[in-house]
Amino acid sequence: MNIINRIRADFPALEQKMNGEQLIYLDSAATSQKPKSVLSLMEEMAGRTNANVHRAMYALSDKATELYETAREVVREFINAPARENIIFTSGTTASINLVADSFCRTFLKANDAIIIAADSHHSNIVPWQLAAQRAGAEIRVLPISTEPTQGRGFTAHLLIEELENLIDEKVKIVAVTHVSNITGLVNQVERVIEIAHRHNIPVVVDGAQGIVHQAVDVQKMGCDFYAFSAHKIYGATGAGVLYGKRELLEQMPPYMGGGDMVETVTYQKTTYAPLPLKFEAGTPNFIGAASLAPALEYAKWLKDGIVQSVDGESVSVCDVVEAEQKKITEYLTEALFNEVGDVQLYGFEKSTDASTGVKKELPLFTFNIKGANAGDLAQLLDKMGVAVRSGLMCAEPLLNSLGATGALRASFAPYNTLAEAKNFIACLRRAKQMVL
Ligand code: PMP
Repeated sequence: MNIINRIRADFPALEQKMNGEQLIYLDSAATSQKPKSVLSLMEEMAGRTNANVHRAMYALSDKATELYETAREVVREFINAPARENIIFTSGTTASINLVADSFCRTFLKANDAIIIAADSHHSNIVPWQLAAQRAGAEIRVLPISTEPTQGRGFTAHLLIEELENLIDEKVKIVAVTHVSNITGLVNQVERVIEIAHRHNIPVVVDGAQGIVHQAVDVQKMGCDFYAFSAHKIYGATGAGVLYGKRELLEQMPPYMGGGDMVETVTYQKTTYAPLPLKFEAGTPNFIGAASLAPALEYAKWLKDGIVQSVDGESVSVCDVVEAEQKKITEYLTEALFNEVGDVQLYGFEKSTDASTGVKKELPLFTFNIKGANAGDLAQLLDKMGVAVRSGLMCAEPLLNSLGATGALRASFAPYNTLAEAKNFIACLRRAKQMVL
């Protein structure tokens, strides 16, 4: 069996038919499918190792706690955080960013201060900052993107990091950026943002919802102050995620929510808080979801470091095979969208795109429109052909609006997708286009 098929066999969801057709799942940027290792852990914990964590003096609770805390260690290692105290389990990226926006800003943001957010942000990295700014009477400043059209084929949509210096003054208390945009699929040079912000002693929050999937993340090397991601985009459960934070900041920040597990002692009048990370984990956590991060990240690690034997006994790197397939898919789509489908406006080209030769993309994430066609109509027609793609604003309304779009289609590929699926997708898209135009 070839390696991509072997990977596919780990994901039962891919075996389904939809509307009578073999499912082609191209919405992994919204949520990835889960491998069997994750599914079996979740089933085992729901059905057997089900006891509240951290609270009881009996073996079943110890077993559940052990799975929960092991996952914390797996996360710590995966992003190279210094200690378990830096890893806070949350319900996902959105909750992680809200935690920082609320708790950090309560302490450090005053009236007339400012927060810088990036123009390519997901709503989860916009709205929490607006709420914090409104509470404090602070302002939002926006780090812009380039919006030049390229050869009539769409928009570059790069984050203009060089503008950051002009936005910074003594009022700015925090900068929030995106690692990899869920619209453009471009990788932002967050290290540059961090370097500039840190020169002014301003902490940086990185929304890693997509970055954790596509990049090797080393939070110490990156230097970010906070990094947020969700389990469900990287093969884990929904309703679980991570906030990495630098210890000195987390220590200074007040609890975000109060309740069980985050306390040391409580009187009717006053509470002292549990040490990190539990200070930020009030209430019964989604312990199955958090624990799922262990097999999920082990799977992601295997995709990067795994070695398998080929049929003729050779050792083959899983990563080499996956990267080669993803590159083929990306190159094929960048060409086929324009030459086989046509009238396409694509959002987000690599900086290295040569205007005379067309378009370049590094990651297999394509957000686009077909001129004159409604994205929602196209998505519905594709669904009838078994192809699942996302359509609409994709929680990035300001970004799409600044690129002149009120909606778009997005096809996002994962290591379990094949070039054959990409070709099928293009054939279906051509048919859908003919039907609507
Ligand atoms: N940021 C980005 C860049 C995303 O792609 C997403 C998910 N679409 C989020 C934040 C929010 O993630 P979640 O809904 O899992 O909290």
